[in-house]
This record gives sequence, structure tokens and C-alpha cells, in this order.
Amino acid sequence: MNSEVTGLVDFHCHLDLYPDFEALIQECEEQQVFTLGVTTTPDAWPRNHALTKGTRHVRSALGIHPQLVASRPSEVEAWDRYLPEARYIGEVGLDSGPEHFNTLGAQKDVFAHVLERCARAGAKVLTVHSVRSATAVLDMLEEYAVTNNNRVVFHWFTGSAREAARAAELGCYFSVNEWMFKKESRRAVVAKLPVDRIITETDGPFTKTGDRPARPRDVSSAVDELCQLIRVGRSEMATTIRRNLRTLLTE
Ligand code: MN
Repeated sequence: MNSEVTGLVDFHCHLDLYPDFEALIQECEEQQVFTLGVTTTPDAWPRNHALTKGTRHVRSALGIHPQLVASRPSEVEAWDRYLPEARYIGEVGLDSGPEHFNTLGAQKDVFAHVLERCARAGAKVLTVHSVRSATAVLDMLEEYAVTNNNRVVFHWFTGSAREAARAAELGCYFSVNEWMFKKESRRAVVAKLPVDRIITETDGPFTKTGDRPARPRDVSSAVDELCQLIRVGRSEMATTIRRNLRTLLTE
């Protein structure tokens, strides 16, 4: 297979929300796209984990999504139950956007619980949502000292350059998608991220490629955008992203 399309990294994709979930896992395997399938509820964990744990390129993350936590408080118990089986955690975090601001208190309670448990367990890799709440997320990461013994990846980071610098200082990574390059102000923040902390994502199926939901292989567009922004060649960028992923998972 062409090396231009193999070895891509999609570190945040909701695989279980596609109608062809199982076929999509197989597609990632065949196309050799290293894919992290995130979940929005711990109830989704057993099936996601069972379908991916024997694969070479696909892993599952144990999630409890900030946009859903308020309506499902009882899910924390299930999340706790599955935590020992999970190396990857997500989607977790905070959302202070207009539609979810009213549940921010409950979101913070759940996220605090998640961080406290991860700090206690160690060796987890978290993919974190931080819509309009990067500073609050950073404050909580520090409060629970989560980055001392875990890795944190900011997914679809939309904070300021200053918040990004603070996250980098804490050792965090950033999973970057194609849609973060659409606005000049956002591109400027991505341009300041440390290149050795950047990996890629699609956040499919919530994003589109053409008129269909993005699939993990479409993460290729994010690589192209990065090449233009940072002015490096395609294979060098792809190699950097794979190296960053390896460092994220082994350091
Ligand atoms: Mn997501």
C-alpha cells in the first residue's frame, strides 16, 4: 500500500457512532490508520473494547462526555467499574458553550472525579474536550496533578495561545483536525503549538469531508494543512506525527 496513506493517526474519532462501526474498524486496519475510538458513555465501553482490543491499529477510550453528564449522573459508577481495563480515557472534559453552560457545575464534579481517579491509577492517556473552558480544564489538571503520571491530549483545542503555552508547559499534547485551519485566528494558535506535541484527529462523524461524515483516513487533510502551515514536506510531517504518537504512548 502507498506509504502516503498508511500510518496516519486519528486520535479522536467516534467510531461507534457510524452505522458501519464494525466495518470501519476493519477499514482502519486495512488502511493502517492508527485510530483512537472515543466513547461518550461508559455503557459503550464493553463493546468498543471487545471489538478493538485484538486489532493492530485501533484502540478504544472510556468516556463520559461533558455534554451528556448532567442528564446521566449515574454513569459515573459504570465509568469507575471499567477504569482498570482502560488505558485510554475519553471523551472527558468541560463545555461552557451556550448550550451546556447551565450544566457546568455537574460537568466539573464529574471531571474532577475522572481526574482524581486517573491521578490515583496513573499511566492513562486522556483525550480532553475544553470548549470555552481551557483555563478551567488547566486549573483542574493542575489541582489533581494528573499530568505527573498520565498523558493528556487536548482535542480540538480552541483556547488562546497563552492557554496553549500553559498546556504545553504541563506536558500536554494537541490533536489537531482539518477544521481548526478554517479561520485565520485559529490557524495562528495552531502555528504556535510545539511541533513535537502535535498529533491529528478527525472527530468524525461530527465533521464532514465533502458531504459525508469524515472517516479516519480523511485525517490526511489535517496533515496537509499542517504541512502548509509549518512549511514542511508531507512525509516529514507524517513521520513527525507518528513519532509524537510513539513518544506520547511510551514516555
Ligand atoms: Mn468528540
